[in-house]
Amino acid sequence: MTFFNFLFKNSDLECPRCLGKGFVGPEDIRRLNKQLKWAPGPCAYCDASGKVTEELLSKVAVDTTYLTIDLPESEIEKIKNGDPETIEKGKLQELFIDNLIQYIEHQYLLKNMDAESIADLYLSTEDENAVFSVEKENLLQYIRKIIHLKNSEPN
Ligand SMILES: [Zn+2]
Repeated sequence: MTFFNFLFKNSDLECPRCLGKGFVGPEDIRRLNKQLKWAPGPCAYCDASGKVTEELLSKVAVDTTYLTIDLPESEIEKIKNGDPETIEKGKLQELFIDNLIQYIEHQYLLKNMDAESIADLYLSTEDENAVFSVEKENLLQYIRKIIHLKNSEPN
């Protein structure tokens, strides 16, 4: 007698985010174009198992930026279940980061400003009521990363 193994076949798909490694490394981050948004770590898409279900693939985009391992378990569950409020929150966060990247690139490329000046300018114009706010030290690190990436891009 055999069990209905075909029922579970779907859970045997290789995770497209980490390519089955269970870990998202620098090359995966580059492949998914998230250099400024993710750091290497265990894969949140497959929960570090390397395997995913067809259901997950159809419900959650593999490059959903907000879905990372540093979120609380409950938050990850909500994203995977398509909770609208959580998904909206993720979109807002990504929009904030996209705008920040654009701002920094603009100041650096068009105004030739250095990281320190860009950070000061950004913080001086930051809305006091902003939903997301950043620490100067972290912002500086982030600006340097963006500048580094810009300089290593092929022309
Ligand atoms: Zn994975």
